[in-house]
Amino acid sequence: MIEIINLRKGYKSNGKYTIAVGGISLTIPEGKFISVIGPSGAGKSTLLRLINGMIQADAGSVRIDGEDITSAKGKRKRKIQRKIGMIFQDFCLVRNSTVLQNVLNACLAEMHLFSVLFGIFSAKNKEKAVKILERVGMADQIDQPAVSLSGGEQQRIAIARAIMQEGKILLADEPVASLDPVNANSILNLMKSLQNEKNMTVIMNSHNVEQALKYSDWIIGMNSGRVVY
Ligand code: ADP
Repeated sequence: MIEIINLRKGYKSNGKYTIAVGGISLTIPEGKFISVIGPSGAGKSTLLRLINGMIQADAGSVRIDGEDITSAKGKRKRKIQRKIGMIFQDFCLVRNSTVLQNVLNACLAEMHLFSVLFGIFSAKNKEKAVKILERVGMADQIDQPAVSLSGGEQQRIAIARAIMQEGKILLADEPVASLDPVNANSILNLMKSLQNEKNMTVIMNSHNVEQALKYSDWIIGMNSGRVVY
């Protein structure tokens, strides 16, 4: 369960103060598919980044299964963050690394410095990554560099990396905004099946009301940093 309590975040830039998230409270039960919709600048990305602790809140808190990620630091914060996978519109893969290496990168946080520096992953993790790549339909391209793949394929790898992390939560920031309709639907179907198979909680930012209606259990409408629906 994710509990968001009176969460606030503002930005100061060029002498101007913008409230990106202006006091949001929400409770999201485990296993739901939620879409956050709203115009550009509504605060959707800021909300997702606050949920996984990528940015610091000005006030309020986010509790993941009862643990406050907003006040957590160091090891404790990283432990909570491991429960949360995130995918982005521009995929955020290591472009010149192979498909397999990109998925294995999900393990870096748990590895010793020596193994990280030399890219030494355990046979167990490699086996697990291959199984996940089979699940997302990318097992045939395991040794391809990520940069050589189509947008839809790159997003499958990003999802595989999130599954590798074994998190129970998948945050998706406009995950299909740069894909054609066929690839967009296949990625959304993959996300939906993860919800059903693994009881994952999915929170997706979207501009697309039709897609949100088709795939979500709940829709949250945001505007000017507030929940309006
Ligand atoms: P959305 O994802 O709905 O498009 P964002 O969360 O990206 O909205 O942005 C909400 C508001 O916060 C916008 O007005 C945006 O310009 C501002 N904002 C977001 N990130 C920053 C930043 N790093 N610095 C300054 N302003 C920002």
